[in-house]
Amino acid sequence: MQVVVDLNRCQSYGQCVFAAPEVFWFRGAESLEYDHVPDAESGRAVERAALACPVQAITLGRVTEANAAEARC
Ligand code: SF4
Repeated sequence: MQVVVDLNRCQSYGQCVFAAPEVFWFRGAESLEYDHVPDAESGRAVERAALACPVQAITLGRVTEANAAEARC
């Protein structure tokens, strides 16, 4: 699974951090960081995080070779 957060849309509500703290976290007061390609075991939690986001800033997709390489950069 690939995770993309539209940080222009994100309002730092933190719902994703509560739903999947192993994938989403804050650096400082409001700067959201996240694992772009989380482990498969986190899939359910990441789906819950995407559904919980009040501004629909989280997009989930399939990992391809191209975006996996991008996430490693
Ligand atoms: S739930 Fe949505 S708005 Fe809130 S921190 Fe996560 S991505 Fe940002």
